[in-house]
Amino acid sequence: MSASIDAEVIDLRSDTITRPSKEMRAVMAEAVVGDDVLGDDPTVIRLQERCAELLGKEAALFVPSGTMANLTAIRAHTQPGDEIIAHNESHFYFYETGGFAAVCGCAVRFVAGERGIFGAEAVEAAVRPRSIHFANSSLVVVENTHNRGGGSIWPMEKLRSVADRARGLGLRIHMDGARLWNACVATGRTPREYAAPVDTVSCCFSKGLGAPIGSIMAGDRQTVARAARFRKMFGGAMRQSGIAAAAALFALDHNIERLADDHRNARLFAQGLQNVPGIGVDHEHVETNMVFFDVDSSLGSGAEFSRRLESRGVRAIATAPQRIRAVMHLDVTTPQVLRAAAIIAEEARRGTAATSCVA
Ligand SMILES: *Cc1c(COP(=O)(O)O)cnc(C)c1O
Repeated sequence: MSASIDAEVIDLRSDTITRPSKEMRAVMAEAVVGDDVLGDDPTVIRLQERCAELLGKEAALFVPSGTMANLTAIRAHTQPGDEIIAHNESHFYFYETGGFAAVCGCAVRFVAGERGIFGAEAVEAAVRPRSIHFANSSLVVVENTHNRGGGSIWPMEKLRSVADRARGLGLRIHMDGARLWNACVATGRTPREYAAPVDTVSCCFSKGLGAPIGSIMAGDRQTVARAARFRKMFGGAMRQSGIAAAAALFALDHNIERLADDHRNARLFAQGLQNVPGIGVDHEHVETNMVFFDVDSSLGSGAEFSRRLESRGVRAIATAPQRIRAVMHLDVTTPQVLRAAAIIAEEARRGTAATSCVA
């Protein structure tokens, strides 16, 4: 199906590493295109309409990346000097080069919560009083699934109560749904159900769905029109982008349901690491396609251990001093995932054995 990866390397760094399949490349090659900056690329229009429908929103905007989806949404919802309420492990805060501050002029006030998920009370406590002394609280950002939270899924009731409270407090709410498809496949809920409580939502095609480029940002017509203006300002308005939109349409048609395979592989991988000395994994918390595991300091740091894994042909990124993330995706098979877990277990056993010999 998809372009095969080097058989010697099992790459679990991210679900972004997938390469477009032959079939996907074929639809890209044949895509009917126009000039999307002039508003007449039919394939981009089709993708935007389909996503608006899928997400139950008035309009949608095709953007080059998840980062730009979040940035245009944040910029559209806020004014410089505003404060955003969000979890401190949020992707937009952690991994998007501080664009919320540099480009949007916003500050962030953190709310605490397990695995990236927080409650309505936390939002209420974080809102600044309306007075000349304070920043203007204007936006809440939630992330579903939550990347650094372990691929965790927002419980629907919690999402609704946070959104209701936010709205009651005069705030808008954006959902970074880069991996919303994973939440849908894991729970059986529709994208529309998850998007209903929020004002805007963004989703990636270049993560689990296997497309090479592209994200969608959706919301009410006025906010999306504002976001389209910022997309242009940020240099993200593209010309014959129907070629990329065709890949996204193909991904929506073919690669959503199979995310269940990634989720199953994640559970198998976590099971393979259970009871391995020096490795800590909480397999009950494997909800979607990500497995975070802790590495005991006797095995070195997460970065050191991941270099050892790399030398054995298993690639995974250290996301904290003693923590490594492995992500399942379209271009990795169940036997490869099981082999990766076995290699990690072998390396861990070797590491602890060596340490105890020295001691
Ligand atoms: C990857 C990711 C993004 C950003 O997507 P890019 O296409 O890499 O810019 C945004 N949010 C979350 C939760 C992500 O995992």
